[in-house]
Amino acid sequence: MDNKIDIKSLNLEELTGFIVKNGEKAFRAKQVYQWLHVKQVDTFDEMTNLSKAFREKLEQLCYITDLHQEAVQISKIDGTRKYLFLLEDGNVIESVLMRYKHGNSVCISSQVGCRMGCRFCASTLDGLVRGLKPSEMLDQIYKIGKDIGERISNVVVMGTGEPMDNFDNLLKFIELLTDENGLNISQRNLTVSTCGIVPRMRELADRQLAITLALSLHASNQQKRLELMPVANKYDIHEVIDACRYYFEKTGRRVTFEYSLVGGVNDTDEDARELSRLIHGMNCHVNLIPVNPIKERNYVQSNAAVIAAFKNKLEKNGINVTIRREMGRDIDGACGQLRKRYITSKEG
Ligand code: SF4
Repeated sequence: MDNKIDIKSLNLEELTGFIVKNGEKAFRAKQVYQWLHVKQVDTFDEMTNLSKAFREKLEQLCYITDLHQEAVQISKIDGTRKYLFLLEDGNVIESVLMRYKHGNSVCISSQVGCRMGCRFCASTLDGLVRGLKPSEMLDQIYKIGKDIGERISNVVVMGTGEPMDNFDNLLKFIELLTDENGLNISQRNLTVSTCGIVPRMRELADRQLAITLALSLHASNQQKRLELMPVANKYDIHEVIDACRYYFEKTGRRVTFEYSLVGGVNDTDEDARELSRLIHGMNCHVNLIPVNPIKERNYVQSNAAVIAAFKNKLEKNGINVTIRREMGRDIDGACGQLRKRYITSKEG
């Protein structure tokens, strides 16, 4: 791939510039773009309405990102599919397909590994390897759509990685994914999560996109958040909540707070009270997640009665709450563990 252009990461304008510079007519760009993003071919040879000479030229100058499906686990309970994809440089990433009544939703990774160090997360145990290119984020969705032969209607950037730590590539990915000349997924059907990188949250708000912002909150006060999420050393919980308020002001989009319930750590009555005070008056939604146990850390799931009581308390304080349905329970293990097992087996 050295020095070749990552053609699937170019927007239509950039592609047009590139194609004209290489002596072809501008309208060819749209054809190529459609091959890449609508028909989603993986080789230049398949672009049959282009001349052979032009296809050869593209082949010399560019490459097409083509993730290889290394493994897939399929849930017998609800059809959830967990994919392990091999990247061109030998790294692996995970993506998940969830089937809902309202459509197919794909959760993608934005980085190989992660450097944020959240204590309850398996994806960060080996640190960050690198950010994914826009084409590598897109191709997770394209490959899964092809695999099931159905349209993907919703995308969540909530797999391995901190999307705001790969910000420029994230923005480009959003542009390509929601482009009417491409897959044309509505911005409203896209959710991006963050552990709370405040300057980037504000920058995203200023762009006034219609995407949903999901904040991984996971604690009701600064002290507890510090114990679970090292990023809190850099950005205080109140700064992060202010950035969420700002996001709503700028975009009119209700913010989602993700709250993983860890048994005995952040699931008490007092936590529910503090959380209610913290986000009081906000146009928001709290998603409670029964945390997946990870064997490298000593975290256990809150029991069902504690989860129900926590939800109740928030609702009494006028907060919108859901408990995240566990998808693919039979194939599970927390996010990042399929990759971890794969790497360990290769090392062994
Ligand atoms: S929860 Fe997200 S941000 Fe935190 S370590 Fe895991 S992948 Fe990174």
